[in-house]
Amino acid sequence: VNCEIRFPDEVLERYLRGELAETDRAALEDHYFECASCLERVELMQALPEALARGRRIPAIPARPRRFRTAFAALSTLATAAVLWVTIGPRPAASPAPPTSRPTPTPPADPLASLRALGRFDPPPYQPTPLRGGESLAADLADAMGHYRSEDYASAIAGLTTVVRRSPREPTARFFLGICYLLTDRPDEGVAELRRTIALGDTPYLEEARLYVARAHLQAGRIDDARNELSRVIDLRGDHEAAARELVREIERVVRR
Ligand SMILES: [Zn+2]
Repeated sequence: VNCEIRFPDEVLERYLRGELAETDRAALEDHYFECASCLERVELMQALPEALARGRRIPAIPARPRRFRTAFAALSTLATAAVLWVTIGPRPAASPAPPTSRPTPTPPADPLASLRALGRFDPPPYQPTPLRGGESLAADLADAMGHYRSEDYASAIAGLTTVVRRSPREPTARFFLGICYLLTDRPDEGVAELRRTIALGDTPYLEEARLYVARAHLQAGRIDDARNELSRVIDLRGDHEAAARELVREIERVVRR
């Protein structure tokens, strides 16, 4: 995807460090939510400090050579990243995984089907939260989430799309729009909306957005991408860390067979 504006790396870096003036920040965000190319660059830059931080500490879960390569591939797209990577070097070898006490369930025949099953999920519950943008926006969101609760995802998508257009930095609407797409067999649109939610930074939906992106990867059979996303959920050390670790264990169980 080509971008007509193509912000310089330096501008994106200043944005991520929170150094842009409010108007510049808003202009950049309005653009990159609609521009796949810029969104991808912002995400890569966001991933960089996380990946480097992971490289420095003893990993809590077993290191996987494949995940490692994925991280490197993402890093190498940025020239400065590659230099940093060489300076810091690979992360230390992992300690072996602790033995699990649980008995292994009877393995299903098809590993890909098992992974898809792991990626399936029940609709996450919606807890109403105060939102920026005023009463009419809040009413529209409440209306759309009413459809969500009654599992009318097509109506929910229509309503949430309106909210997102009016308030591009509203994380609740973006997150549930992504979920609705995933629930209606529109995985690419779902992942794109969840990525935009992630790009909003430190919101109440950051962790969950990553978790559901990982599930979408699993449903599509993209194991490395799923692992990579789950390791980021774990790194956030939040409410969904345990669920992410469990999913990683389930993946390894399927893959080892
Ligand atoms: Zn762009």
